[in-house]
Amino acid sequence: MTTPQVLMAQPVVESIKKNLILRCQKLLQKGIKPTMSVVLVGNNPASLAYIKYKKKMCEEVGGVFHLHQLPDTISQEDFLSEIKKLNEDPIINGIIIQLPVSEKLKSLNVYELIKPSKDIDGFHPDNTKKLYFGSIEANLLLPCTPKGIISLLNFYQIPIQQQNILVIGRSLIVGKPLSMLLSNLNATVTLAHSHTKNLNELTKQADIVISAIGKPGYLGSTYFSDNQASTVIDVGISYVENKIMGDVDFENVKSKVTAITPVPGGVGPMTVVSLVENLIIATEIQNKEKL
Ligand code: NAD
Repeated sequence: MTTPQVLMAQPVVESIKKNLILRCQKLLQKGIKPTMSVVLVGNNPASLAYIKYKKKMCEEVGGVFHLHQLPDTISQEDFLSEIKKLNEDPIINGIIIQLPVSEKLKSLNVYELIKPSKDIDGFHPDNTKKLYFGSIEANLLLPCTPKGIISLLNFYQIPIQQQNILVIGRSLIVGKPLSMLLSNLNATVTLAHSHTKNLNELTKQADIVISAIGKPGYLGSTYFSDNQASTVIDVGISYVENKIMGDVDFENVKSKVTAITPVPGGVGPMTVVSLVENLIIATEIQNKEKL
């Protein structure tokens, strides 16, 4: 039985915010206000809650936040014209389309609609291509959750290079880009998914286990050995009786591993601060001749 290090996001977020505030002040001194526009179709309460958090973090570093709320009856043509206006608006430095969008818009490939230089979610193919080509430049617009996980590991000085890292879940927003990013950082990565055999053997062999499957408490104590020298990063967010739960059964796993993230208070805030970091990066790149 060990006492694990609980990897809280808060000190990491504070440290990143300090740096972003300084960079934002530098931009403001040149008359440039880093401005984020979030496009919301309809008024999904979960989306509104996420947006509130993004607004708070954006304003805390000195950025400007716009909510561009559109009715869920909007046609594809009108939606595309709204996105075009935002892409062309010189005041807007970063754009996010909050998912999910309405039924009418589901057939659009929303990841390709935002101009790559304003794509602060980091999902446009021009941005993901750089990741897949192996770039590790500091000013890439990387997908926010993978980026946040790397910042968290770096802050707590958990090595990535040469480590065996198991990523569970192969979504376009977390698992796939994260596995590529970790591989670019010289980790040996296993990407597991719903068809993976013997997951509970892979979890026992990994130096770092990162779970993004969305099943509350799925990784219980049988997935880990006693005194296992592993770090567990829980990306999952599920709501069970109005309580937020991760993929990992925190109470029963924590005594078996070296370090573990809590849910809430772990990966979630890292995702949001990474989004604001992307806004500052995008603004700096768009104005590089003025800085
Ligand atoms: P998703 O829902 O698109 O896909 C889930 C993935 O899990 C799939 O690749 C599937 O193959 C895999 N999977 C499902 N059951 C499995 C099993 N039994 N064993 C192994 N793999 C299995 O994934 P997503 O959009 O990446 O979301 C995953 C979770 O992460 C959700 O709970 C989501 O809310 C959460 N999330 C959190 C953040 C954050 O900031 N903390 C960000 C994004 C997503």
